[in-house]
Amino acid sequence: MIRSQAEDEARLAAERAEMVDRQIVDRGVADARVLRAMRSIPRHLFLPERYRHEAYADSPVLIGHQQTISQPYIVASMTEHLCLDQSDRVLEIGTGCGYQTAVLAELARFVYSIERIDDFVQPAIARLADLGYQNVRIKGGDGSRGWPEEAPFDAIIVTAAATRLPQSLLRQLRIGGRMVTPLATTYGQQLVKLTKTEHGVEEQYLYAVRFVPLIEDGPDSC
Ligand code: SAH
Repeated sequence: MIRSQAEDEARLAAERAEMVDRQIVDRGVADARVLRAMRSIPRHLFLPERYRHEAYADSPVLIGHQQTISQPYIVASMTEHLCLDQSDRVLEIGTGCGYQTAVLAELARFVYSIERIDDFVQPAIARLADLGYQNVRIKGGDGSRGWPEEAPFDAIIVTAAATRLPQSLLRQLRIGGRMVTPLATTYGQQLVKLTKTEHGVEEQYLYAVRFVPLIEDGPDSC
């Protein structure tokens, strides 16, 4: 049977609505802006052709180079914990396929994103441009040093697990800013939310996660 493009799009939109309702709303994510963004962004377009049928599955999916696009629930939950405002400037470490970047771009004023695997950088830039995002800048490199020229940021999200709190990134967060990152601890990886205050940094351990490692390419120069 040959399906029309309109039929395909309607089917994908239905899968996406189901993904948001069953995997995200039912698990407690309530931020209406996050839900709206994830209902509208065509997640399948961020995956390599051969994994596209898994785009709306309740799991991470391979995107090449042994990396994964995060599970939809994790994207939603991390974004909700960033408490984004429309005027915020956000830094993302680990662009990957750019899906999380698109979610952030829907909710914030501008998104800066850094990816260390060169092969991911141009396709992510092209994909986001094709989808019409004009408030995104992506560059290649080791994101653990952040993007000092553009700091301070209102929010920072790290989508790969560090073994220690990335101090250079915390320095690039404004007072009142939020950072969400997976962190490898002796008890396994935990998702951590850090809020920078005038008196220091508040740490909130959220729940256990499993991310690919954050690879630091050299000594921290900051
Ligand atoms: N959020 C993305 C990718 C998640 S996988 C998505 O949903 O598609 C984690 C990504 O972090 C990988 O692409 C990996 O190459 C990248 N990464 C790991 N260490 C990094 C570092 N130090 N700087 C920038 N990116 C890094």
